[in-house]
Amino acid sequence: MLRRNVLGVLSIGLLLVFALNLLLIFYTKRIVQELILGDRQNKLHFAPSELNWTVMDRLSRLEANLQHLKQTMKLATKQSEDGICTLAMVKDEKLYPFPDRAHAKEGGFFKENPHKVLFPDSELFKKWGRDLSEAQQKEAEDLFQKFGYNVYLSDRLPLDRTLPDTRDSRCHWKQYPSQLPSLSVILIFMDEALTVIQRAITSIIQRTPPRLLKEIILVDDFSSHGELKADLDEKIKLYNQKCPGLLKIVRHTERRGLAAARNTGREAATADVVAILDAHIEVNVGWAEPILARIQEDRTVIISPVFDNILFDTFELIKYALAVDGFNWELWCRYDALPKAWVDLHDVTAPVRSPSIMGILAANRLFLEEIGSLDGGMLTYGGENVELSLRVWQCGGKIEVLPCSRVAHLERHHKPYSLDLRIPLKRNALRVAEIWMDEYKDMVYMAWNIPLQNSGIDFGDISSRMAFGRN
Ligand code: UDP
Ligand code: MN
Repeated sequence: MLRRNVLGVLSIGLLLVFALNLLLIFYTKRIVQELILGDRQNKLHFAPSELNWTVMDRLSRLEANLQHLKQTMKLATKQSEDGICTLAMVKDEKLYPFPDRAHAKEGGFFKENPHKVLFPDSELFKKWGRDLSEAQQKEAEDLFQKFGYNVYLSDRLPLDRTLPDTRDSRCHWKQYPSQLPSLSVILIFMDEALTVIQRAITSIIQRTPPRLLKEIILVDDFSSHGELKADLDEKIKLYNQKCPGLLKIVRHTERRGLAAARNTGREAATADVVAILDAHIEVNVGWAEPILARIQEDRTVIISPVFDNILFDTFELIKYALAVDGFNWELWCRYDALPKAWVDLHDVTAPVRSPSIMGILAANRLFLEEIGSLDGGMLTYGGENVELSLRVWQCGGKIEVLPCSRVAHLERHHKPYSLDLRIPLKRNALRVAEIWMDEYKDMVYMAWNIPLQNSGIDFGDISSRMAFGRN
């Protein structure tokens, strides 16, 4: 009895001490905070409202940071529970280094491979796939030849993998209007891998605020792979069970090339803004808001996000530096230096005026239609981006790259739809030159080493495109 009483008294005592300590900590923290804030306020001569704003801003940034960290940790835990390959996990911590690279150079890569190396010259196996059995190597190589990227790996990576946030940290704190235009995302494809398309869709759903994302439109430019028919339709049905009406698909009944596929997507779209993307992309966090806010400000801006590179073999993300999209006299796209006027702004989040786009674009849907969309007479690949750019700058619009909008794009090793890309590139370049370049068109002919008269290249009917420049 006595022992029980003693224990009771002791417990109450301990509780009291604990509560007292808590009060003390709380009180001391308040006093210290007041002292620090008071001291800062005196030192910086802030008006109280300014100070409150700064402190509140810091706190909200801190909160956003913690929220982001929490989300990342949740995803990472989920992935490790799912038994997902460690590559994606490593990538989130370290963006660039690939552990095997140095080793591979020394020739250690093949030495340690317990299996016979079937394709020592294949680009696919230069820094990937050392643990694969012979049967697996064969399967991976076949898929690589068919698609131009590592489908074997894609099929094993999570569809909802996290990507490193490649934006400048100053983008994190940008505020956008609460009311923004709605968005249709268009993904065009021709014989892309199903899991690659699914990963693109998943990234768009995960990283676009649902209130802004009206629809995702898939445009199939007459693919021949069976899995892009019934299997893809089945996946679309599953997505739409979760988000009714979100996914739509339009299929070409003949191969029409990427410019026509992009136009088909725009024609099917119904939102205020269209983002027309390749099907082998993963959009990164916060990619849509800068686009929608900028187009809301000015409906005549055609926008390019900043691209990062998903390596075709390891699917690692390589961060690309900010640049503008230019082109050479072959009208082949290239990155160019940032304009001085932009550098002088000292604002890394500001839109950058750009001569051209790489291909992927976002625009006000109706404005894009008004200025003539893309030239559907471009065949297969290339030229349509430069044709649009010349037209936009001459028809009252502008082109900008938005530093805070980042899209990871898979750069293929080879293009399965064209053995010699120079054939459509050359033809389409002549089309651009004839439509827009007047006396400068000779430069394009010279760059391609084509005679000015009787070139022997049929670039098709350009009369309807010429009309845009004359109106
Ligand atoms: N594409 C298409 N029809 C074609 C060729 C390409 O729909 O005849 C699609 C392709 O699947 C991809 C997009 O157009 O989603 C851009 O092509 P690609 O990625 O090969 O061009 P790159 O990004 O390398 O310039
Ligand atoms: Mn592409």
